[in-house]
Amino acid sequence: MDVDVLIVGGGPAGSYLARYLVSSGFDGDVLVIDKRGVVYAPVICGELLPSEGLLSDWIPRELHNVLLETMRSTLRREFIVNELRSLRLIVAGRDVGTFPFRTYLVDKGAMIKGAIEDAMSRGARVRFGVNAVRCGVKGGLYECLVHDRSGGEYVIRSRVLVGADAYPSVVDRSLGITGGFRPEDLIIATSARARGRYEEDEAVIVMDPGLAPGGFAWIFPRGDGLHNIGVGVRNNLAWRGADPLDHHMKFVREFGLEQVQRAVLMKTLPVGGLLNRYSLGGAYLIGDAVGSVIPTNGAGINPAMITAHLLGRALTGGGDYVRLMNTVFKPLMDRMVLFRRIGDPLLLSRDAMVRALGISKSYLSSAIYEATLSSMRISTLIKFALGYPLIRLVSSPWP
Ligand SMILES: Cc1cc2nc3c(=O)[nH]c(=O)nc-3n(C[C@H](O)[C@H](O)[C@H](O)COP(=O)(O)OP(=O)(O)OC[C@H]3O[C@@H](n4cnc5c(N)ncnc54)[C@H](O)[C@@H]3O)c2cc1C
Repeated sequence: MDVDVLIVGGGPAGSYLARYLVSSGFDGDVLVIDKRGVVYAPVICGELLPSEGLLSDWIPRELHNVLLETMRSTLRREFIVNELRSLRLIVAGRDVGTFPFRTYLVDKGAMIKGAIEDAMSRGARVRFGVNAVRCGVKGGLYECLVHDRSGGEYVIRSRVLVGADAYPSVVDRSLGITGGFRPEDLIIATSARARGRYEEDEAVIVMDPGLAPGGFAWIFPRGDGLHNIGVGVRNNLAWRGADPLDHHMKFVREFGLEQVQRAVLMKTLPVGGLLNRYSLGGAYLIGDAVGSVIPTNGAGINPAMITAHLLGRALTGGGDYVRLMNTVFKPLMDRMVLFRRIGDPLLLSRDAMVRALGISKSYLSSAIYEATLSSMRISTLIKFALGYPLIRLVSSPWP
């Protein structure tokens, strides 16, 4: 089978790109394949998105404009299941503050389905239950060997190949586009639904290396009495002694949650910033496959769509993908990786976190809040720069 553009993966990144291309008069046929049998299920995600205005004062204007465009074209009213107003931060067992946090809890599966259906209605082809096994280049075209659900095996040839298949990407690994991430730049995150006595319009984030080493745990109310809960644990620590499921169950117990489903789902999330390359020839990486998750807060839905938007723009003649990524998105990603690395000693040691809290609770909580908003303000940078020697001090053993 021959196509102009083959998109491997129909998540936020792949579905957005397909929709963008067919809506922008792209000259060529677009095929999306996804190994899942149905559109985006099961959902392994906190399903939290910023409201339209939340980040306007915190991130650069050009990036914010792209964010708004991605939201306007995919986030319909009916996909929002709850509107949140505040964020409660719990650090090493202490309530450190409640902050403004206008966000949405969404039905992510329905949102992706909406984008896929939009893309299909405008001419994109989509095939579910089709798994890309490996890809290569032959005679100037990309060739992907795929397996389908009925046991079939065939090759899809394309002029342009897009890896939107999350991390680690089959497209990336088969073509050797990037060097991949180190284990400390990956999070293993769990996802479940639970009941509990928490406010219906408040997100709760728990930072406690005893519960979620190298990451955080969350309770996001869905507004129907159920909460979307989960724990993110750094991959290099996730399997030492306890495994991510043990951390998850400890969180459930300690926070008085009653899980309504038995199965806890898990997925890998890259938090090391953008990978060293985004493309090779006519092969491109977008979304988690290129490392677009915000390292300080784990948000990846809008960022995946932002990378897809920039690639869509490039493929429709609006510039060069690498240059667009480097000017519009990379500065924010580099800053957030820096913040994450500065904060790592606290995220990895409960003792250090408790000592830092003892020195200044308000300093620490405001720095965490601003990093959660992915703040590019100079004042936040100064806060982290000044906090760095303090963090080094509290994280080394007392003399
Ligand atoms: C537990 C958890 C909680 C999260 N919470 C949030 C949150 O609250 N807010 C937020 O913004 N982000 C959150 N994220 C991050 C967010 O879910 C991801 O960053 C986002 O979904 C990335 O989109 P994507 O399209 O790049 O990848 P994915 O959503 O992973 O989609 C990739 C698609 O590719 C398909 N695929 C993979 N390999 C192949 C293959 N070989 N062949 C064919 N198809 C393939 C998969 O089936 C999948 O449909 C969370 C992540 C996790 C794990």
